[in-house]
Amino acid sequence: MKIEYNVNYSIEIRNCKIDHLTDVFKQLFVMVFSDFVKAVLKQFGDDFMKMKKKPFHCLCGNDRNFIWKTKDAKPMKITTIFADLILPQMQVQCKDCGKKMFISRLLLGIERYQKMSTLTERILAFVGGLATFRTSEKILGMVGVSFNRMKVWRCVQKIGKTISFDLDPKQLPYGEADGTGIPIVGIKKRGQELKVFIQKKVGGGVRIAGLAIGKYDSDWAELFAPLRDTIMSFKNFLLVTDGDTSILNGVKCLNVIFQRCLWHIPHQLKYCMWKDGVKKKSANWKKIMGKIFDISAIRPYLEKDDIDAVIQEKRARLDELISFCEKKGYKASTAYLINARPDMFSALEKRLNGKSSSLAERLMKTVNMRVNVGKWSPDGALNAMKLRLAHYYNGWTPYESEITPVNIQRI
Ligand SMILES: [Zn+2]
Repeated sequence: MKIEYNVNYSIEIRNCKIDHLTDVFKQLFVMVFSDFVKAVLKQFGDDFMKMKKKPFHCLCGNDRNFIWKTKDAKPMKITTIFADLILPQMQVQCKDCGKKMFISRLLLGIERYQKMSTLTERILAFVGGLATFRTSEKILGMVGVSFNRMKVWRCVQKIGKTISFDLDPKQLPYGEADGTGIPIVGIKKRGQELKVFIQKKVGGGVRIAGLAIGKYDSDWAELFAPLRDTIMSFKNFLLVTDGDTSILNGVKCLNVIFQRCLWHIPHQLKYCMWKDGVKKKSANWKKIMGKIFDISAIRPYLEKDDIDAVIQEKRARLDELISFCEKKGYKASTAYLINARPDMFSALEKRLNGKSSSLAERLMKTVNMRVNVGKWSPDGALNAMKLRLAHYYNGWTPYESEITPVNIQRI
C-alpha cells in the first residue's frame, strides 16, 4: 500500500548547536512517529472495512458484516524501542450479533492487552542478556524511550522462557557437560550451579545443547532428561562429564566417560595446597604446580600408537607426584590426586581426545561476565543465560527475518 504522509511542524528552536538540535529532534521524532503510525493505522482500517471478507472475525464467526463504531476511542499506550506512542483505539461492531471489538492492536500485530510487540520484547530481552539491567536502562534511555530496568528484566524472563536447547542430529555425537557457580539472592555462598551441555560442531566450534540450574554435585537430571530422546537418534554418543548421569541409564547408544576436567585439576590442586599450608611460590609449591600442569596438558592430534606411551608416562609421573605429596605430609593434595587418578585419562585411553577443557572454559567466561554482576533468583539467572548463550553460541537474535527495505520517495 502506498500512503502519502506530510510532516508539517512549527518548532521553536533556541539555538543552532547540534546538541540542542539533537535534543529537539528526539522530541519531534516521537510526534512524527506517532502521526505516521496513526495515518497508516487509519488507512489500513478503512481498507479492511472495504474488503468483503475481513482479516478479522467476530466471536460469533462473522468475518464480513461490520460497521465502524469509532476510529478514535480512548487512547492506548504502545511501547516501541524508540518511543512510547499514544494511539487511538479503533472499534468496529458486528452487524450479526452486535458485539463491539477493538481492532487497533490486531492491525499493529500486538497481542490483546499487551503494550508492546513480541519483537520489541525480544529486543529488550536481548539487551538485558548482553548488558546489566542498569546499563540497559541507561543506554536505552539515551537513544530512545526510557525503559525502566524492571521492564527489561520482565522481557528477559518472558523471552528467556521461550528459548530451549536440544542436540542437533547433524552435528557431532560428542558432548561435554560442565557447571559454574552463580550468585543467588539471599545466599552467601554460590549455592547454585548453572549446568551447561555443550555439543561439538562439525568443522569446529561448539553449540549449546542444554542448560539447567541446580545444586552442586546433584540435580544433573534436569540437564540430561530433555536430551534422552535426541541422544538415541545418534548411533553412538560420547558424553564427557563430571556429573551424575543416572537419568540416562538405559540409553543404549550412550558411551559415558567420566572424565575429570583436566583444565580444573591444577586449579583445584592449588586450593588443596593452600589447605595443606604449602606456601605460595615456595620451592615445593612451584615443583608441584610445574608437574601437575605438565601431567594435565595433553597434546592434541596424538596418533593412536603414541597414546599408550603418553598415558604410561603421565601415570608414572602422577604416581611420583602423589608419593612426593604424601612424603611431605600434604594430606589434602594427596587425597585429591588419588581421587582424580582413575578418571584423569579415561577419554584418552579410549583413543579419544581427552582435552575436555578450554571449550567449556571459554563458554563459562561468557556466562560469568554477565551473571557475576548482581545477584539472581535461580530462574532469573537461567533465563538471562539462555538468551546470552543462545546468542553467542547458537546464533539467536531478536530478529527472525531481515529488515526489508521499502521504497520511499520525496514529494
Ligand atoms: Zn458477531
